[in-house]
Amino acid sequence: MHMSKEEKLRQLEAEAKACKRCRLHKTRTNVVFGSGPADAEIMLLGEGPGFMEDKSGAPFVGAAGKNLDSLLQTAGLKREDVYITNIVLCRPPQNRDPLPDEIESCKCFLEGHISVIKPKFIITLGRVAARTLLGRYVTMGREHGKLLDCTYAGTDFKLYLTYHPAAALYGAEAKQRLQADFKKLGQRIKSIR
Ligand code: SF4
Repeated sequence: MHMSKEEKLRQLEAEAKACKRCRLHKTRTNVVFGSGPADAEIMLLGEGPGFMEDKSGAPFVGAAGKNLDSLLQTAGLKREDVYITNIVLCRPPQNRDPLPDEIESCKCFLEGHISVIKPKFIITLGRVAARTLLGRYVTMGREHGKLLDCTYAGTDFKLYLTYHPAAALYGAEAKQRLQADFKKLGQRIKSIR
């Protein structure tokens, strides 16, 4: 039976909502699966849900969401045109980094997302997402703003590396770096599309 991208995503979401593959299921309120069109050209990949996301079940809400919306605007993009998800779908307690075995357990959903949506661009927000897709150590200070060819889950796409939007909370300099990265991202997307 032929299933649309949307149907495939809904099936994957139902699996995620029942998932107990790692310890994070014990402390979650909601599984934060992702949001956006199933045929999005651009996917944004964060690290994991925070407090507000865990409560609401949606990615990048509250202050973090506003921050992301303004960065997307800098790149000439709209939230409703991009698909947003995270490396782990359940909130790590106290917003700690997801542990390697949690990332490994959740990879089936990351692979599912990428192989269904088949985005042309993936923008990783922060080092955890970048390291997971590239399978190597990444120092964001050295590699942010890079556009790389990447293959993951049998899908070829352009990978753009930048900081997590929460970095903007660390000060004006970090905020400017993020804004500059998103401005450059907008130009790169325009030149490739
Ligand atoms: S983080 Fe991922 S693997 Fe762990 S319980 Fe949640 S959905 Fe399952």
